[in-house]
Amino acid sequence: MLKKIIYYANTQIKFFLLIIFLVFAKKTLFAESNNDIPSQCMFALEWYDDHPGYVGEFKRVLDYCKKYAKDVSPEGYAANPILSDFGSMSGVNTRPRDTIHQGIDIIGQKENPIIAIKDGKVLETTIEDCWGSTVVIDHGKSIDGKNLITIYGHVGTFYVKEGDRVKRGDKIAELPIKIKYRCMARVRHLHLQIGQRYCEKKDNWACKYFIKDFYRSLNPHDYWADGPNKVTCFDNKRKFQKGTITYPLPCSRTY
Ligand SMILES: [Zn+2]
Repeated sequence: MLKKIIYYANTQIKFFLLIIFLVFAKKTLFAESNNDIPSQCMFALEWYDDHPGYVGEFKRVLDYCKKYAKDVSPEGYAANPILSDFGSMSGVNTRPRDTIHQGIDIIGQKENPIIAIKDGKVLETTIEDCWGSTVVIDHGKSIDGKNLITIYGHVGTFYVKEGDRVKRGDKIAELPIKIKYRCMARVRHLHLQIGQRYCEKKDNWACKYFIKDFYRSLNPHDYWADGPNKVTCFDNKRKFQKGTITYPLPCSRTY
């Protein structure tokens, strides 16, 4: 009888410990999930850790980030938030822009992988004076016949070189560890922009940052695989329609 009671109590304790472990594990996982906006803002603003003299600016930018970073996660996934969207008149650092934003700015942690939004060919990997490391990929045509000359700006380490062919979802670069370039605006983010006309390296005429139609870029939200304005996460178990794009950072599954 006593043995039975001890066995029963033991099982109960084990069960109790398992529950505690699961709750703890879920909390930990949740804290690291890609769409936890306060945490993602803190990660994106790590420049300020090395610059304690800017505490006022840090607080202002952090508040702004927490308020305006957009969770664009599709159902079942957690995606890194967009802080400055296509067409926005404000930069990631709260400052007004001179012209409307020609791309989307996605915030993240150091060494977050950047993945190809579609199959393509790498046109250029450059460390630009203001932008920092930047990859330009020709992703061929969109579903409506437009060119998808895509700039992945403000990255860190490259994982591809010029001339490489990439598949959708391939890792092409990472977000930088340190924010050292002026155009990164002290906030770690990927600037994704889609132009029509690539500037050859030697051809600088009427070129601005890699493309000739810098101020007439396409809205990436028109081309998601699940349809316009339906951000679509890359998933190697899915087949995606040609001419459509998927999110440039990997998403985590939420179930
Ligand atoms: Zn941008």
